[in-house]
Amino acid sequence: MLKVTNLSVQYGMIQAVKDVSFEVNEGEIVSLIGANGAGKSTILRTISGLVRSTSGAIEYLDKDITKTPSRKIVEQRLIQVPEGRHVFKGLTVQENLDLGSFTRKGKEGIKEDLEQVFERFPILAERKNQDASTLSGGEQQMLAMGRALMSKPKLLLLDEPSMGLAPIFIKEIFRIIQDIQKQGTTILLIEQNAKVALEIATRGYVLETGKIVLSDTGKNLLKSDEVQKAYLGG
Ligand code: ATP
Repeated sequence: MLKVTNLSVQYGMIQAVKDVSFEVNEGEIVSLIGANGAGKSTILRTISGLVRSTSGAIEYLDKDITKTPSRKIVEQRLIQVPEGRHVFKGLTVQENLDLGSFTRKGKEGIKEDLEQVFERFPILAERKNQDASTLSGGEQQMLAMGRALMSKPKLLLLDEPSMGLAPIFIKEIFRIIQDIQKQGTTILLIEQNAKVALEIATRGYVLETGKIVLSDTGKNLLKSDEVQKAYLGG
């Protein structure tokens, strides 16, 4: 579904991503893990068309999207939930969700999808007329995911969904991510929290200073000495 080949990204003199190749097959949850500054967000932002690569290729649904504008990428239902939530403050929960469906070509099914989002995140239904800024961190994460689901993603890119959340919220969010996958959405997840990210991953990749250093199934990576030592304190 997504194929990244020899991708490099540079910010001025800083090479943030170095010759990275990986793929995401339909139906998978793929986790990309790595420490601060490893280049995870840069990779997601490049796939979404928000940052331009210096070399390499990105294919989505067998089409080259390396130079496609982000607006067109969203229309092809490749949707990113950015780091730090980025919900629209000053707008209500309902208005934030409405913005998610804005990019859809046909308007049919929107009402049903909204009902489904409210079923999945009952707290959003309770808070639908409240300003998004009044939500807790975990609730804002849910709103950002709900908003992305309103765009009917084929491939969902999640940028550190566990960041800043209490363990109980992390558990809940990751259960919901698995649920979204089971209902047919493919997921590429980036995380510093290697444990939760690899536990739910079909496959995973480990990124260190811009390079992929390991790849395997989520289960095998969790067991591997390298991951245990570097990311799980084992
Ligand atoms: P984190 O988990 O801390 O968000 P990350 O793995 O997502 O880290 P990136 O945000 O992709 O890492 O950053 C990779 C490298 O590129 C870092 O050294 C960072 O300082 C640098 N970088 C990121 N964005 C920019 C930018 N706009 N201009 C210059 N350097 C940048």
